[in-house]
Amino acid sequence: MDEKTRLIHAGRDVQPRARTVGPAIQRGSTVLLPNSRALYEEDLGYGRAGLAAQEALCLGLAELERASDVFLYPSGLAALSGALTAVLKAGDAILVTEGAYKPTRVFCQRVLTRFGVRVEIYDARLSPDELMALVKDDTRMILLESPSSLTFEMQDVPAIAAAARTRGVLTLMDNTWAAGLYFKPLAHGVDISVQALTKYVCGHSDIFMGSAATNDRKLAAQLEASIHDFGWAVTGDAAYDMLRGLRTLPTRLARHDETARAVAGWLTAQPQVKQVLHPALPGAPSHAIWDRDYSGASGLFGFVLNPCPLDAEHAFLDALKIFGLGFSWGGFESLAIRCDPQLKSRTFVTGLEGPLFRLHIGLEQASDLIADLVAGFAALDAAS
Ligand SMILES: *Cc1c(COP(=O)(O)O)cnc(C)c1O
Repeated sequence: MDEKTRLIHAGRDVQPRARTVGPAIQRGSTVLLPNSRALYEEDLGYGRAGLAAQEALCLGLAELERASDVFLYPSGLAALSGALTAVLKAGDAILVTEGAYKPTRVFCQRVLTRFGVRVEIYDARLSPDELMALVKDDTRMILLESPSSLTFEMQDVPAIAAAARTRGVLTLMDNTWAAGLYFKPLAHGVDISVQALTKYVCGHSDIFMGSAATNDRKLAAQLEASIHDFGWAVTGDAAYDMLRGLRTLPTRLARHDETARAVAGWLTAQPQVKQVLHPALPGAPSHAIWDRDYSGASGLFGFVLNPCPLDAEHAFLDALKIFGLGFSWGGFESLAIRCDPQLKSRTFVTGLEGPLFRLHIGLEQASDLIADLVAGFAALDAAS
């Protein structure tokens, strides 16, 4: 054969030489079929549905979520939009918590409505009875997120899921905060559990991915079909890296939890701080629900400052050296943001009596993080 041909085919029959602790990373859009009949008989005729690493990650996530079926999406937001469009159709209505991640709310209002779905935003603080009073004949689904993005209200998920089920309404929960580890939505009656794996499962702030998990065969079939219809794919490299994060998730999250509680407890004693919004702090709003349903807390929480000039808010953040200023979370590194500009898009008043900040507590030493915040508060005082 010509050299050109030999270069194209050399080495292609090599099989893995040994077992490794991680799955094989297969990079393949093309999948080779063993014979002519298989071209139209084989289930896996194309690589988009995922190969070894994607399958290994799904098996790991099935353990985490206690789910029969888990599906991967190229981002957390894609998992949310994907699961919603897999199930909802024109003429349906969805109740969406105002505490949902803002792009989720925007997707519902901007896209679902365009396709004939009625979208009603509800106050995250409604009791299960108050929420069920909003259910109408066309209500097909309730979207939950607990604790709320930014404001950290806890929803009574088991009660809402049980009441929704008796009314024939599906529930979908964004469980990114608990990382699938400290709260199990499916075990508490939720139909579809979604998380942005981008955050804690990844753990290193460098991969986008999302998952949707269910124990309902019919929903699983709908999710699978819509992934195929929309053409979403996740690469083997990304799945491999995500699985590496999953291996250390419990160990990392326990450390995030411990350090975050130490920093949150310290913050409650600072004169500049009006309120700390950390579900695991006794006395925090809806602490009782967290205490009943959760086996731990992650590293993300909020706090409210006593009213101060905007310049003092900026001075506080600008003085931080260990905390980065950034919107994501779930990685090994600590982050801080001010939240008030994001709250402007909300309808229901938060009732918070001062500027709201959010911290993500990474894996650094608590004493160093506290020293950083001390410097921040000194700058805040100087600018007040
Ligand atoms: C970040 C985030 C998402 C979206 O995840 P991406 O991978 O960034 O699309 C969804 N829900 C919550 C609660 C998040 O924090």
